[in-house]
Amino acid sequence: MNDLKKMLLDGAGELGIALDNTAADKLLVYKDFLKEYNQKVNLTSIVDDEGIIVKHFLDSLTLLGEIGVAGSTSIIDIGTGAGFPGLVIKIAREDVSLTLVDSTMKKVRFLEEAAKLLSLKNVSCIHARAEELIRQKPEYREGFDYVTARAVTRLPKLSKYCLPYVKLGGEFIAMKGRNYTEELEEARRIVKNLGGEVWDIKEITLPNSDIVHSLIKIRKII
Ligand code: SAH
Repeated sequence: MNDLKKMLLDGAGELGIALDNTAADKLLVYKDFLKEYNQKVNLTSIVDDEGIIVKHFLDSLTLLGEIGVAGSTSIIDIGTGAGFPGLVIKIAREDVSLTLVDSTMKKVRFLEEAAKLLSLKNVSCIHARAEELIRQKPEYREGFDYVTARAVTRLPKLSKYCLPYVKLGGEFIAMKGRNYTEELEEARRIVKNLGGEVWDIKEITLPNSDIVHSLIKIRKII
């Protein structure tokens, strides 16, 4: 096994995540494709192998334990960029039906090509702004089990963008850094007004690093 695959599998193990061999291989194909594409089109500033594996892949995979195992789970990833965390989750859980949204066309093109290269089914890549898409597609309103977002905007605004997509009983999971307290306090009223409730926060240290990330879990209760 090569070193990078080992880093990925060991890292997943450390996070308590089951990653199978096929998924690990696909992630490495995704990594190479991302690096190659990034030479022509700027998608990410993290371009080294270890950086992609730890800061993009393992970080995205921390969500896996939070996603229910029931069949026909739907996820929409808002402001996904080059596919984080959405496409990584899909590679590890191919049964999930995934919608990726980004307001930058070149990123959406990349996502379409990556999904094709990796033979992933049930992936829609949408070029739109989240706040406009919800008006254009009424079926998306309260249409998803999980809404995810990493590094898009601060939590008050992000909650306004994301919560309308969450099914009753579903969850919006925001991926944040170590310092989320202030924006979380600012977001509480908005979350409540949109029928949500902050019900769990997890802090996770990424393998091979001292990077601490947090998952802010907001459930749609009304
Ligand atoms: N989630 C990715 C990308 C973060 S960068 C990651 O963590 O690596 C933020 C991304 O959000 C950019 O790709 C940008 O195009 C997109 N974005 C910003 N505002 C948006 C909006 N209102 N609706 C949809 N996408 C948005």
